Amino acid sequence: MAKQQVILTGDRPTGRLHIGHYVGSLRSRVELQNEGDYKQMFVFIADAQALTDNIDNPEKVRQNVIEVALDYLACGLDPKQVTLFIQSQIPELCELSFYFMDLVSVSRLQRNPTVKTEIQMRGFESSIPVGFFTYPISQAADITAFRATTVPAGEDQKPMIEQATEIVRRFNHIYGETLVEPQIKLPSNAACLRLPGTDGKAKMSKSLGNCIYLADTADEVQKKVMSMYTDPTHIHVSDPGHLEGNCVFTYLDAFCKAEHFERYLPDYPNLDELKAHYTRGGLGDMKVKRFLANILQEELEPIRNRRKEFEQDIPGVYAMLKAGCETARATASGVLDDVRRAMKINYFDDAALIAAQAERFASK
Ligand code: ATP
Ligand code: MG
Repeated sequence: MAKQQVILTGDRPTGRLHIGHYVGSLRSRVELQNEGDYKQMFVFIADAQALTDNIDNPEKVRQNVIEVALDYLACGLDPKQVTLFIQSQIPELCELSFYFMDLVSVSRLQRNPTVKTEIQMRGFESSIPVGFFTYPISQAADITAFRATTVPAGEDQKPMIEQATEIVRRFNHIYGETLVEPQIKLPSNAACLRLPGTDGKAKMSKSLGNCIYLADTADEVQKKVMSMYTDPTHIHVSDPGHLEGNCVFTYLDAFCKAEHFERYLPDYPNLDELKAHYTRGGLGDMKVKRFLANILQEELEPIRNRRKEFEQDIPGVYAMLKAGCETARATASGVLDDVRRAMKINYFDDAALIAAQAERFASK
């Protein structure tokens, strides 16, 4: 059977990518790529979306486009298999967003829980830029312009995919079957849905400065892990510890595999036993942190090294992105032809329309 999946995801170039992105989306993108069971795969850098809340800081967005591209390549995304592109270079996405705006009400946008939280986080309550407020619509355009079926993303993206699905249904209902309904592909491991920050805050986020970045040096990773938030009531080693809200254990849930115990902590057979000891009391934070640091170093070292290699050929990375933009634009432009036809705004490529109008006026 022909492969059906069209996979699409992206990231905002508001900073380098962190281990939250990695477990929430990047890791599964690379797995999907390597499994190869897809028709097309697109990964894009959402610079236009990043500008919606960074409009006075274009240099930040510009600098981070290359950082994110390097992070992609470092994680193992392969431009030979995946189209990597930059959102702003595909004008068809603006056009599609403009049409979609008419399919969504203001109150529907106001109900989006992720946007609500982000508005609060950015202190936008009384002065939300219209573009930021409507970014779920533009995200629907990003997805549908490539007829994406599958969007690997973290949990915060669920409301966006729901919004995109509603738009597709409404569009197809009014204009006829044209667009494809997307599905989110969430990480199967609960700890990866929304990795907390090193400060214990609900989400590791570039905008909150509580991140372990993929490109951090080994020293930085070590320092960040050793100063991570744990359980404030776990003062003495002998005190019983709590797992809830203790992000060291959440990170272990996200990263730890059986073989890590053999390598770095052979006193314990598995994570359950480690957790049980911590909860009972008698296991110090430092020991757990050192274990986590070893695991993260092992996972991040090859990524860091690959990144260094790509950093040696920055013009090559831009050339790769340019080629990706051209490929992506060709696809989006084909979909937009269908959209315009469905919406009856394809005046000049419809000879039958011109002939019929000519006849109508001739017979007046
Ligand atoms: P910003 O603060 O600028 O919004 P961000 O850190 O939230 O940045 P995005 O570029 O908005 O990152 O998100 C890109 C992808 O990474 C999305 O699929 C999102 O769900 C996922 N993601 C981001 N942060 C996390 C996290 N802490 N845990 C799991 N997934 C995450
Ligand atoms: Mg975000």
